[in-house]
Amino acid sequence: MSKPLFGIYGASGCGRGIMPLAREWVLKQGFSLDRLVFIDDGNHNPESVNGHRIVNYTDFLALEASERRVSVAIANSHVREKIALRLQQDQVLSWSIQASNCVIMDEVSLGEGAILSPFVTLTSNIRIGQHFQANLYSYVEHDCIIGDFVTFAPSVRCNGNIVIEDHAYIGAGAVIKQGTPDQPLVIGRGAIVGMGAVVTKSVPAGVTVVGNPARPLVKPSILN
Ligand code: UDP
Repeated sequence: MSKPLFGIYGASGCGRGIMPLAREWVLKQGFSLDRLVFIDDGNHNPESVNGHRIVNYTDFLALEASERRVSVAIANSHVREKIALRLQQDQVLSWSIQASNCVIMDEVSLGEGAILSPFVTLTSNIRIGQHFQANLYSYVEHDCIIGDFVTFAPSVRCNGNIVIEDHAYIGAGAVIKQGTPDQPLVIGRGAIVGMGAVVTKSVPAGVTVVGNPARPLVKPSILN
């Protein structure tokens, strides 16, 4: 009788960071580690990394399995969305992974396919969409609403009453100032918050902000 098959999609930095958490879960469920592979469509040489076989997506689908569960561990949110759609079409189940030391408090709804790295904290009354990635030591404080395919690099400090729209990317060590229930601070769809930025007011959709206080990044129009 065939057994479930588990995949971490992406064998680069993000995937390798998540694999030990996946491994811990798979072992705890009593499955053997040969049921856990990396999926990567790039050229993989060698054919395994950190003790796990790498297969491309077509080969993953061809492996015998009673069911397939995949976690998309790729930081680029648009790639993540494209792959998530393909998985859905192929009836591959979405797999959420979280470190055993994450802290999740009251009334937190977390969409499918989330990846929560070690030391992530989600406090109370938080709504988060699908395929959220929160890297090491990030936190989300009370009453935040986070959309789909949002990405947090390590140590993001997302304070209370903040809305983060779909596909926003928050860089390492960024701090986002608390909003209020009447006027949440909003990070717009697809906005990028640079590493170490201190965000004190809302960021429009698609805009990149950097610095303290964070301001829109102005690219020089003339190169010297
Ligand atoms: N990748 C893939 N299929 C795709 C797009 C990307 O397998 O359709 C893989 C790609 O080959 C690479 C990984 O996803 O190994 C993304 O790695 P990258 O270093 O760009 O970023 P990170 O690991 O930080 O997300």
